[in-house]
Amino acid sequence: MSETALPPLRDVIARHGLRARKSYGQNFLLDLNLTRKIARAVPDLKDSLIYEVGPGPGGLTRALLEAGAPQVVAVEKDQRCQPALDEIVAAYPGRLRVRSADALTVQEPDLLAAGGQPVQVAANLPYNVGTALLIKWLSVEAWPPWYQSLTLMFQREVAERIVARPGSKSYGRLAILVQWRCTPKILFDISPKAFTPSPKVASSLVQMLPRPQPADGGVTSEALGEVTRAAFGQRRKMLKSSLKTLGPAIPVILAELDIDPTRRAEELSVAQYCAIVSRLIKSRAP
Ligand code: SAM
Repeated sequence: MSETALPPLRDVIARHGLRARKSYGQNFLLDLNLTRKIARAVPDLKDSLIYEVGPGPGGLTRALLEAGAPQVVAVEKDQRCQPALDEIVAAYPGRLRVRSADALTVQEPDLLAAGGQPVQVAANLPYNVGTALLIKWLSVEAWPPWYQSLTLMFQREVAERIVARPGSKSYGRLAILVQWRCTPKILFDISPKAFTPSPKVASSLVQMLPRPQPADGGVTSEALGEVTRAAFGQRRKMLKSSLKTLGPAIPVILAELDIDPTRRAEELSVAQYCAIVSRLIKSRAP
């Protein structure tokens, strides 16, 4: 069987009783033109192992395979989807592996066992765990990470927070974590009407490419998180007061970095946050 021989997704959903559940963040993409467009956006698709989170009834999975992905590994939490996905496994022998699991807790390098070929992550993420998954993937200790790219669907508002620049309303902890480690780009927007059921808001496809290990003096995601939590936890306050909880070294660190302590959290660049973190780590070293 090939994609053209597989039944229409609407029939698959009806036959297997896959009524979308809110608790799983289910908004299915049934438009083949759109799923194909997403598959085309994945870098190096034909020479990579593709990791897909939340295949659901398999719309994007089919598009990835049809576009020539030699191997797709998919993790789906909703066990009701398994029979529908088994049909795609049969249509593309040896090219699709489905694991019934929670993507938040799987150990991706063990699951993927990529054996040297590049890994690209592609997913229409469940809106309720999308940000948590992204943070998990960006916080891995080993860098460069186990993936070569992330091509992910988010609610438009989250996409804006990912690519936000200093000084903008959307700039915050997520932008800093993402841009510390990756170069993000919004590829295109998708109308709510493209999904079944339709969410209330528009979505965007975002691509993130890992940057080489930044020369930033031992910054870790935990330490960066600690500093940005303090800064943005009290967004309206001046840095000299919001960062106080980080310890007595802060006034000296801000002075050494020539950062005006009366500035506010959203005014600092990612590089400035990394510089603060790096000095803070040094100041705490025994
Ligand atoms: N890929 C399909 C599509 O584009 O039509 C479905 C996308 S839907 C927005 C999100 C999918 O992620 C659902 O199938 C849902 O069951 C699954 N999901 C939700 N939470 C999950 C988790 N923690 N781990 C793995 N899959 C999850």
